[in-house]
Amino acid sequence: MSPATGAVTEALGELHARYADVGDGELADYIPQLALADPDDFGLALVSMDGHRYSAGDADVPFTAQSVSKPFVYALALSLLGLDEVSRWVNAEPSGEAFNGISLERTTGRPANAMVNAGAIVTTALIPHTPGTPRFTRILDCLSRFAGRSLDVDEQVYASESFTGDRNRALAYLIRSTGPLPVDPVAAVETYFRQCAVRVTALDLAAMAATLAHGGVNPLTGEQVVSEAVAAQVLAVMATCGMYDSSGAWLLRVGLPAKSGVSGGLIAAGPARFGVAAYSPPLDTTGTSVRGRLAIGELSRRLGLHLMRNPALAASTVTLVTTAGDLPTAPAAGHERAAHEDVAVVAAQGALDFTAAERVLHALDEAGPEGTGAVLDLVRVTGIGGVARAMLRDGLVRLTADGLRTAVADPDGLLRRPGHEDGDPRIFATREEAVDWCLGRGGGGSGPPARPGPPPSGP
Ligand code: GLU
Repeated sequence: MSPATGAVTEALGELHARYADVGDGELADYIPQLALADPDDFGLALVSMDGHRYSAGDADVPFTAQSVSKPFVYALALSLLGLDEVSRWVNAEPSGEAFNGISLERTTGRPANAMVNAGAIVTTALIPHTPGTPRFTRILDCLSRFAGRSLDVDEQVYASESFTGDRNRALAYLIRSTGPLPVDPVAAVETYFRQCAVRVTALDLAAMAATLAHGGVNPLTGEQVVSEAVAAQVLAVMATCGMYDSSGAWLLRVGLPAKSGVSGGLIAAGPARFGVAAYSPPLDTTGTSVRGRLAIGELSRRLGLHLMRNPALAASTVTLVTTAGDLPTAPAAGHERAAHEDVAVVAAQGALDFTAAERVLHALDEAGPEGTGAVLDLVRVTGIGGVARAMLRDGLVRLTADGLRTAVADPDGLLRRPGHEDGDPRIFATREEAVDWCLGRGGGGSGPPARPGPPPSGP
C-alpha cells in the first residue's frame, strides 16, 4: 500500500470510472485483426519523471502500437541522421488530413510530417539497413529501450495488415513516383507494418512517453535512449501533428504533445512532468480512441497541465534585494555602516533557469551599480541550468568591469568553473564571507588572490 501516492492512482481510477461506460466509437476494421479487439478494454497509465508507475483498469492488456510507434521511429531517424537530413525527406508541417491521406508536397513528393502514414513510411525507410543489423532490428531495439523492456511483434496483426495494406503500399509507390523514396517501397511498407504490429501495454506506452518527457532518458531504466535535443524535436512534432486532422483542436484544448493509433492507444507527454497513456479500442472519426481522448483531456484540465499555462512564472526566485547595511551583522552607525550600505546583496532560491536568471540580474542592477560591491547569495539555490549559469557569470563579470567588487555565496560551487578568468566573481561558502570580501576585509574565496584595498574605480 502506498497511502500518499494512492491519491494519484485514485485520480486515474476516477477518470477510468467516469469514462468506462462511454459507448461511442467504432473498432478499426480495415486491418481485420484489429476488429477482434475487446471494445470494453480500457486502461490508463502514468509514469512520473522519477519512474513511479500508476495505472487504472486494463493497463496490462497487450495490443499493437500502430501509429503510436511513429514518434519513436522518428526519434531513431533523428538520432541516426540528424534533423537536417531527416527534414530533406520528411517535412514537419501539420497536414490537416487523415492519417492515411496523400499528404505529399506537390512538387517534391515530400510527406507533410512523420506522424501521418506517408511520412512514417519514409521515416521507416530512412533507418539504415545493414547485413549485420537489419532495419527492423534497429527499430524493435529502439522501441524496447523506450519502453524499458523487450517488446515483440504480434505476427497475426502484422500478417493481417500486410494482407490488406494496399493503401499504404499505394502511398509508398506514389511517394517514389513523385520524389525519391530511399528504398524499395514494398520493403519499406513491410517494415512499417511490422513496426505498427509491435505489442505494447498502456504501461509500456506511458514509459515511452515519459522517456520523451524526461529529455530522452527512460525514467524506469535510467538509460539515455535519445538525446535531449531529439526528444524535444519529437515532442514538437507530436504537438503540432500527432493527432492528425484534430491536432490543432487538441493542442488548443488539451495542450500536450500526443500521438494516437488505430488500435486504440493514445499517449501524451507533459515535458519534465510525466508520460501518460490510454488504451481503449473504439475510435472516433479521426482514428483516435474515444475514451482515451476524453480521459487524457480531462486529466490535463483537472491537473492544469496545458503547456501554454506556465506556473513557473508564479514562483519567487529573488528572496532578498538589499545592502549589507540592512543585514543583522552590520554596524549601527559610522563610517563602517556607510561602507556596508555600499555593498548590494541579492539572494535567490530554487532552481534557476533563463527566466529566474533574468530576475536575479535585474535585482542586481536595481541594487548594485552605485555602490562599491555586490554579493549574490546562492545558498538556497538548488540548481542552475547551463543558460542561467552563463547569464549570471556574464552579469557578474559586467558588474566587476564596472568597478564593483563582486562575490558569490555559493557553497555548492554552482557557479564555479574549472580555471579562472579575469573578472570572474569570487566564490565563498557563506554570505558573511562574501560581504566581508566586498568590504575589502576578508581573504580567501576561489579565484586569483584577493586584491587588498578599495576596488578599482570604474570608468
Ligand atoms: N498501421 C496503421 C496504418 O498504417 C496505423 C495507422 C494509425 O494507427 O493511425 O494504417
